[in-house]
Amino acid sequence: MREPPPRAGHTVPGQETSLMDRELDGSTCSLTPGTPTFIRPVRRNPLDSELELLHPISSNEGTISPSQIRRRRDRFDACHSVENQDKDYVGFATLPNQVHKKQVKKGFAFTLMVAGESGLGKSTLVNSLFLTDIYKDRKMLNAEERIMKTVDIIRHTVGIEEKGVKLQLNIVDTPGFGDAVNNTGSLRPIDVEFMRALHEKVNVVPVLAKADCLTLLEVTRKKIKIREEIERFGIKTYQFPECDSDEDEEFSLQDHQLKDSVPFAVVGSNVLVESKGRRFRGRMYPWGVVEVENPAHSDFLKLRNMLVRTHFQDLKDVTRDTHYENYRAQCIHNMTRMVVTERKRSLCNQLKESVSDLPLVPVDGETERHIWEKDAELRQMQELLQRFQEQLGHDP
Ligand code: GDP
Repeated sequence: MREPPPRAGHTVPGQETSLMDRELDGSTCSLTPGTPTFIRPVRRNPLDSELELLHPISSNEGTISPSQIRRRRDRFDACHSVENQDKDYVGFATLPNQVHKKQVKKGFAFTLMVAGESGLGKSTLVNSLFLTDIYKDRKMLNAEERIMKTVDIIRHTVGIEEKGVKLQLNIVDTPGFGDAVNNTGSLRPIDVEFMRALHEKVNVVPVLAKADCLTLLEVTRKKIKIREEIERFGIKTYQFPECDSDEDEEFSLQDHQLKDSVPFAVVGSNVLVESKGRRFRGRMYPWGVVEVENPAHSDFLKLRNMLVRTHFQDLKDVTRDTHYENYRAQCIHNMTRMVVTERKRSLCNQLKESVSDLPLVPVDGETERHIWEKDAELRQMQELLQRFQEQLGHDP
């Protein structure tokens, strides 16, 4: 739909109609007192037969700006224009707007865990990704302190804002965790174990750090080797959703390239360098400059776009719907097992006590029936839970 520029002078101050507005065709429509009035010249576009957009003009203002028009149109179009044209209009078409408004007000949260040994470039990468200094309070540790801190997990939280959208960014750092990738280009046992311990709990996105220290050929070889090992060791990394069949060719190509880039070979930098009249995040060498955001130099941009622009919501959905639900089902299962075992144990104790209280009296039919009933009840409960858990496990 095209939006024609607002036409000035649609209303003449002092000559507005207050409760009834005149349509272009001369008809009038009634409006609720207090609501802005709209003259809505709706006509069909002869070329594509789409409805042309409306010209919302306030009755009590002479000239209004295009942004005001847009704001008002967004607010009132759904309830005025469509409902008046279409008698079947209920109003739930405004739901996306409500969700959007509420979510923007509430803000977003994202948790990113970075794993790798100290000095690998994790903090530089995170700072580059979010154009912020998340680690400004970081205390540099000496070698001895680092050994002591191997198992520490540190959480940093920053609130960042972009165009009115608030994001609470939680960075979970695991300093001191062994080398992510060794010199031969394959994964070390500690990497394999770490990823396998986490792959059912979080979305694993493998990254090849300090890609500027490798030649293009080395990067390609390492990527192939790492992908093979991920497959061989049965590590489940984050699976990109399939591209919709109706997506255009360019989008499909980008999607394909993104999937092909794993593990992302990235470069990070905390400094702005200047070259050929441009300032950018980069690393300067005597033989040239590496631009962090240059797709020809690294996969940094692909990683950032994927994390923040294109797959942010999917990453969160998979975490909530798959990883968290599996974890929750597992917790319920374990708790139920504990409760059932405990109940069985106390039932046995009760029986033992009743037997020891009345050693000579055999268990009568009634008690025996009671025990059988309780046993059957417990078995049913266990089966029910088992089915429930299987269902949760199968659901995407
Ligand atoms: P962390 O301990 O894993 O958080 O590592 P840092 O981010 O503190 O980086 C350690 C050192 O590596 C610093 O001197 C960084 O300037 C450097 N570094 C970080 N990222 C890169 C990179 O992409 N390429 C190169 N060559 N050096 C990097």
